[in-house]
Amino acid sequence: MKPQQSMPSDDAGWRKRLTPEEYRVMREAGTEPPFSGRYWNEHGEGVYRCAGCGTELFSSDTKFDSGTGWPSFTEPTNREYVELREDRSQGISRVEVRCRRCGAHLGHVFDDGPAASGGKRFCINSTCLQLEPQDHADGNGQ
Ligand code: FE
Repeated sequence: MKPQQSMPSDDAGWRKRLTPEEYRVMREAGTEPPFSGRYWNEHGEGVYRCAGCGTELFSSDTKFDSGTGWPSFTEPTNREYVELREDRSQGISRVEVRCRRCGAHLGHVFDDGPAASGGKRFCINSTCLQLEPQDHADGNGQ
């Protein structure tokens, strides 16, 4: 997934670009089963980009083991890159996290994260993310 790639202009384009599971989670606000994704137990260093549009969203520096089975972060790399929305679906009041650029549903943010790092837990579906390993990132533009 290349950084800041162009985006489909319509739903048909998204269906073409994304796998059925990616489409279900990102475009239909679905949730992957816990402990099933590719990143919940990932400990490599790098930048996690949006699997829909390539925008940088999270850094491995803020990733922590939440025990939930989903990749969890204390903060996005920049609050400007995500959009937080009230979500009252399923009879629960939660805060949904979306990619601001492409509008993809990413997951939810909760207030039970590590207190020393701000207390937030960004609970994100692996399928919405693409890890760009650190050594690759270092190689860019050099
Ligand atoms: Fe995106």
